[in-house]
Amino acid sequence: MDATDMGTDLKEVLLTEEQIGTTLDELAAHIDADYAGKDVLLVGVLKGAVMVMADLSRRLHTPLTMDWMAVSSYGSGTKSSGVVRILKDLDTDIDGRHVLIAEDIIDSGLTLSWLLANLRSRNPASVEVATLLRKPDAAKVDVDVRYVGFDVPSEFVVGYGLDYDGRYRNLPFVGTLAEHVYQR
Ligand code: 5GP
Ligand code: MG
Ligand code: MG
Repeated sequence: MDATDMGTDLKEVLLTEEQIGTTLDELAAHIDADYAGKDVLLVGVLKGAVMVMADLSRRLHTPLTMDWMAVSSYGSGTKSSGVVRILKDLDTDIDGRHVLIAEDIIDSGLTLSWLLANLRSRNPASVEVATLLRKPDAAKVDVDVRYVGFDVPSEFVVGYGLDYDGRYRNLPFVGTLAEHVYQR
């Protein structure tokens, strides 16, 4: 799929499938080096992180298990509020485990800082974060994100797991939407 298949919905492709793949190769190499000799619990935050989970986990050689959480950040439209509700909790007891959270994007960082506090209260051996994308606002919140794929501008992006109104998650690239999409 490319910009043309999207009809007129897409404004611009910011990151191609190939760029994403190359960056995931690099992230996976770092993670493998950092977790040598350890067993990892890879936690995907639904639904946005499904592509990152699938493509990052397949590049990792570190022994791992996977689990999923679904959280909902109260807020309207395209901004999150930091008030978070667990829609689906982990099935795994993380006491003593090395937890690596896989995220699609960190914008305000509010969702993630809530998630980190929640998971740390469960006494894991460690908790780190790998995110494909990070926006500039994330710097305002004091969350330590060890693995970052790309720093992107403060624009609303879709694709590669990221949605607008439930759509566009299946795009293999990351892009921005044309103005008219937000008006319908
Ligand atoms: P934060 O709490 O860091 O502001 O936002 C985290 C969540 O908001 C992300 O996991 C994602 O679901 C959503 N989000 C933030 N920025 C974007 C964006 O540019 N595009 C899309 N589709 N979702 C975003
Ligand atoms: Mg997310
Ligand atoms: Mg969304």
